[in-house]
Amino acid sequence: MTIDLHTHSLASDGTDSPSELVANAKAAGLTVLAITDHDTTGGWAEATAALPAGLTLVTGTEFSCVYTGADGRDVSLHLLGYLYDPENEGLRQERIRLRESRLGRGEQIVRNLEADGYPVTWERVTELADGGAVGRPHIARVLVENGVVGSVNEAFEELLSAHGKYYAKKVDTDVFTAIELVRAAGGLTVFAHPFAHRRGPVVGVDVIAAMTAAGLDGIEIDHPDHAPEDRIALRALATELDLVGTGASDYHGTNKTTRLGACTTDPKEYERLVSRTSARVPIRLSA
Ligand code: AMP
Ligand code: FE
Ligand code: FE
Ligand code: ZN
Repeated sequence: MTIDLHTHSLASDGTDSPSELVANAKAAGLTVLAITDHDTTGGWAEATAALPAGLTLVTGTEFSCVYTGADGRDVSLHLLGYLYDPENEGLRQERIRLRESRLGRGEQIVRNLEADGYPVTWERVTELADGGAVGRPHIARVLVENGVVGSVNEAFEELLSAHGKYYAKKVDTDVFTAIELVRAAGGLTVFAHPFAHRRGPVVGVDVIAAMTAAGLDGIEIDHPDHAPEDRIALRALATELDLVGTGASDYHGTNKTTRLGACTTDPKEYERLVSRTSARVPIRLSA
């Protein structure tokens, strides 16, 4: 079994359509694929309809969350919610709110760039997003199209950095609320790339313990943004807190250089994860 539990499609900031994503997953030799677009279930139906024989699909969403410390400082973090009921009303409303927040904030970043003379329009950004959850990678691609930078990655280094002068914040979900909402919808939760320092400040072990007490099911250990020492620390933490440890590529098509299956989940950990919910089961088409 080759299992990749975190990937993106055109429903958010990936570049493969959901049909292309499942076809590419099959071609890459995966046997289990999770589709986890930001703040949406938008790709689930198409991915399910196009699912090739022999590939199991785990439906999921990467929720934009925030942890507010005792000192009032916010740390943004990502929570993967798997196999939850997409019709659960509380969680559906929260996804809508998160995507609306992405619209206002994306437009604000574009206005900030425009005010300094950068050739980027909100119209082109929304055209590229094509109704999916809008993110900074869409703005990055317009900057690439217009020759401002050479790559999406380069756009993030300065112009779109969270520390840069053009940045605007989204209004994300409190991470404990998000765990509760996904659980109430019958789903599983995995903390995505907990120690991805490169993206900004990360939370400490105490917060992961508090999330576990709130019902967190697992943590991503093997992820392209985790250094070897991060993985060692997270593996020890998973054992200590009895959390499922996963691995995944966080594939975004051509928006990143990471390939499908670049990091994978141990089949035993996958079984441990999916056995924690009976609400919904992974979708498998038999050959
Ligand atoms: P946003 O969700 O709008 O805040 O944008 C963050 C998203 O941008 C993340 O989900 C990543 O997928 C993507 N991202 C962050 N850094 C980079 C990078 N250096 N190159 C490409 N994509 C990135
Ligand atoms: Fe992303
Ligand atoms: Fe993420
Ligand atoms: Zn992701």
